[in-house]
Amino acid sequence: MKTYDLLVIGFGKAGKTLAAKMSGLGKKVALVEKDAQMYGGTCINVACIPTKTLIHAAEENLSFAQAMALKDTVTARLRQKNQAALTGAGVDLYTAKAKFISNKVVEISVGDEREQLSADVIVINTGAVSNHLPIEGLAESRHVYDSTGIQQLESQPERLGIIGGGNIGLEFASLYANLGSQVTVLENSPMILGRADEAVAQLAKSYLEEDGVRFVLAAQVEKVSNQGDAVLVKTSDQTYEFDALLYATGRKPNVEDLGLENTDIQLTERGAIQVDDFCETSVKNVYAVGDVHGGLQFTYTSLDDFRIVFGKLTGKGHYSLKERRNVPNTVFINPPLSQVGLTEKEAQAAGLPYQSKELPVANMPRAHVNNDLRGLYKVVVHSETKEILGATLFGQASQENINLIKMAMDNKIPYTYLKNQIFTHPTMAENLNDVFNF
Ligand SMILES: Cc1cc2nc3c(=O)[nH]c(=O)nc-3n(C[C@H](O)[C@H](O)[C@H](O)COP(=O)(O)OP(=O)(O)OC[C@H]3O[C@@H](n4cnc5c(N)ncnc54)[C@H](O)[C@@H]3O)c2cc1C
Repeated sequence: MKTYDLLVIGFGKAGKTLAAKMSGLGKKVALVEKDAQMYGGTCINVACIPTKTLIHAAEENLSFAQAMALKDTVTARLRQKNQAALTGAGVDLYTAKAKFISNKVVEISVGDEREQLSADVIVINTGAVSNHLPIEGLAESRHVYDSTGIQQLESQPERLGIIGGGNIGLEFASLYANLGSQVTVLENSPMILGRADEAVAQLAKSYLEEDGVRFVLAAQVEKVSNQGDAVLVKTSDQTYEFDALLYATGRKPNVEDLGLENTDIQLTERGAIQVDDFCETSVKNVYAVGDVHGGLQFTYTSLDDFRIVFGKLTGKGHYSLKERRNVPNTVFINPPLSQVGLTEKEAQAAGLPYQSKELPVANMPRAHVNNDLRGLYKVVVHSETKEILGATLFGQASQENINLIKMAMDNKIPYTYLKNQIFTHPTMAENLNDVFNF
């Protein structure tokens, strides 16, 4: 049995960063990834990077075929770069499936070949997989895809159905509508975008509708089937016909086939690996990082898990999940919708003394330069402490500017600082002067 100082299972953001760093410190490190097409992890191959490349390509008026080819070029380049970064750092990279056979022994297999590895520290970074709702016919029907499958299509569907109006569903809705498909989103709640500010969600819906997306809200999908080459989706009211169907109904921690039953690693009620504030599982020196431990599912939270485990292993820091501050997010529809902290409704529900303010993007000088007047900035501040409680930025460049607000919030910088800050002009950031001008 080969032994290592550190063994990482899965090529995710936290794990690969940790592997390279620890190897750089002279540790003997191995990383096991089950699929060579996933070198670099989910983000690079089938999530953030390819989807945003496709979205950007569609906005630049590239055709479906051109956009797909560009996406393949970008992901291949990043895969290669990630592989080189790890092996260049001296990490032993195994392309094999990993499975625990005891608390500290992992069996790796390729076909019938098996090998056992052990390490002082083991880090599980196996990500998440798409939720498969128990809808009759969903699993068996043809032309039905999850977010990975829909990125591999060889031809553009004329009619695309999407089950789920959350971040992933809406990004694909926006993308395919931009590419010219007829898109229908079937959302089971009365509104899209879950916990987003209601006025902003309404505005986002209207822009997506202008781009040709049709919404069926409060939809109860009962059955999926095929008729010839078409996919039929039966709801309680109606039957819809599509050329392809995407189900985007959330992602769950990827713990299947990991052999956890052979260990003392505990799962949470929701099926994630249970960890403490330092991402350590119920087995000492076995950690779980990224989507698999059931926290927020973002590449940057996975990277933040790396910081926690690296600090713990090297004794160079005491940062933990407890200290993690505000986590912003962006839905990459057009224009992008970004959010951090509390919405007005949440501030109200928490009984906080607050003030809120809205500023239409149409009032912003840069919006006229951009020739895109769509959107709205909305902020919520504490009326006594002057701290920022939350912000929703819906407009061009919101994916960048939300990070400024996150920094102000984390550092308890009062909103008056952003109100009086000197910003370059003409930019979208400079509008923080006005939206914080209470
Ligand atoms: C369509 C889509 C779009 C997204 N867009 C964004 C975005 O814009 N921004 C953002 O921050 N986040 C986005 N996300 C979320 C983000 O991709 C994930 O949160 C992030 O990639 C999680 O990384 P991770 O570190 O948990 O591991 P992952 O990157 O998921 O890596 C897990 C790896 O483990 C491997 N593996 C699994 N089981 C085994 C095993 N038994 N043996 C060996 N290897 C194994 C897998 O093949 C995989 O490569 C998106 C997700 C999706 C699906």
